[in-house]
Amino acid sequence: MRLLLVEDDAMIGETLLQVLREQHYAVDWVRDGSMADEALRNQHYDLVLLDLGLPKRDGLEVLRALRARRSAVPVLVATARDEVGDRIAGLDAGADDYVLKPYDTDELLARVRALLRRSAGRGEPVFEHRGVSLNPATREATVDRRPVSLSAREWAVLEPLLARPGAVLSRAQLEEKLYSWKDDISSNAVEVYIHNVRKKLGPDLIQTVRGLGYVVPRE
Ligand code: CA
Repeated sequence: MRLLLVEDDAMIGETLLQVLREQHYAVDWVRDGSMADEALRNQHYDLVLLDLGLPKRDGLEVLRALRARRSAVPVLVATARDEVGDRIAGLDAGADDYVLKPYDTDELLARVRALLRRSAGRGEPVFEHRGVSLNPATREATVDRRPVSLSAREWAVLEPLLARPGAVLSRAQLEEKLYSWKDDISSNAVEVYIHNVRKKLGPDLIQTVRGLGYVVPRE
């Protein structure tokens, strides 16, 4: 899953970047409202963590512009504990949820997981399909109840496919889930990770759709 982190405070931003990357999310970090706006126009994200008090353009403005473009990307706004008005304004401007600053990182991660779940049209917290189960909260994967160890990037290609059985994702769409701006991408990376996942979870779970991409079949 690819996240945009919008936070102008360098220390908070560094910490969040590390916490989110430890959870295997691909994260791009921008520090002002104009850069946030630009990133959101040019890149697909699965979720945005948006601070409201930002240089250049404030977070509410960025959010309103995003929703005016009819983007449905889940947005989690960050506001100070005593700023009830900001939270209401954020939700009414199109945010899906809020977190309080200073951040409680465990709560933040749980809210991120909940929003990703909802935006995939799911309620249940664990992905289960064809004997494979993935738990995003514990990062545990099993096949027929046997634990399987997946690397961060194997997880990153499998999760979006397993989240929506029947939906075909192109190689480019899967690459987006794997990497943030600063990473080097080798041209066959997605194929390599898909190959590994097939070796670990069985050859039929992820199928290749010639010329289009990959899919976890519905049944
Ligand atoms: Ca700020």
